[in-house]
Amino acid sequence: MSAQIIDGKEISAYIKRKAAEEAAVCGSQKRNPCLAVIIAGEDPASLIYVRNKRKACEECGIRSLQYAFGPDVSEGELLSLIDSLNADDGVDGILCQLPLPSHIDEAKITNSICPEKDVDGFHPVNVGKMLSGKDCFVPCTPAGVIEMLKYKNIEISGKRAVVVGRSNIVGKPAAALLLAENATVTVCHSRTVGLKDIVKTADIVVAAVGKPKFITADMLKDGCAVIDVGINRTPDGKICGDVDFENAVHVAGAITPVPGGVGPMTIAMLMHNTVKSCKMRLGL
Ligand code: NDP
Repeated sequence: MSAQIIDGKEISAYIKRKAAEEAAVCGSQKRNPCLAVIIAGEDPASLIYVRNKRKACEECGIRSLQYAFGPDVSEGELLSLIDSLNADDGVDGILCQLPLPSHIDEAKITNSICPEKDVDGFHPVNVGKMLSGKDCFVPCTPAGVIEMLKYKNIEISGKRAVVVGRSNIVGKPAAALLLAENATVTVCHSRTVGLKDIVKTADIVVAAVGKPKFITADMLKDGCAVIDVGINRTPDGKICGDVDFENAVHVAGAITPVPGGVGPMTIAMLMHNTVKSCKMRLGL
């Protein structure tokens, strides 16, 4: 038996199509949504992410503003740009591509983005709202995880979910969102004792560890759903996930590939959040 493949390209295309339709409605009624992206430094991966974000904006009819700074930009310059974008009624979303150069306090920068335009969902106000089940901007990668499960009609309510990883951008919010969907959630991390036995109980496994093929087929319950958030580069230059896909695919009931799984969902959810912000701002 082989698991059904949860195709992130298909699902992200669907999310972007919906975002484009809603962006067109915004445009026809008042104005198109607008996303401002700030990048500082020359991290090659960040440059690729920012380029892909701009491309997705074009696809969805979202106006994109880009502000690129060199690696020696000062905190003050970034803060004053964010101040002016916060005050600009024509801007719906602001994001600062991480990582920032090491002399910049990342938390200070992300916290200066007003929560109503924090389409990355990293601001403490949005984190608090998410935990208390209020409407807010949810971080894009974990939001994408939930969308994938829903798109495939994989039941979450009442199921046992195990999230491996507890980072602020993936593991913790993924756990909070699964809980909000009424799963019974366990979060594992580097100090977890008996990881294999815990993962084995899961109907839904979310792997966000950052270690290639860390979750092996023998750790999985027959028929479980596996969402692999990991993006790792192997010594031969290939991209692989946190799950040993080749073997896990014979045990799981549904599984995301890497690449082509969660990866494309992150930008699609960013488009969704930007359009949501625009609709709220325009009262649509
Ligand atoms: P972090 O490094 O911030 O977190 C990794 C987590 O894994 C930590 O909580 C850590 O535990 C846990 N961990 C490490 N070793 C073990 C172990 N032996 N057993 C159990 N848990 C362990 O990574 P991120 O959350 O930022 O990212 C995770 C992966 O997802 C990466 O591969 C990253 O590239 C990818 N990613 C993909 C995105 C996408 O768009 N698809 C977006 C963001 C990330 P502890 O807290 O105890 O240290």
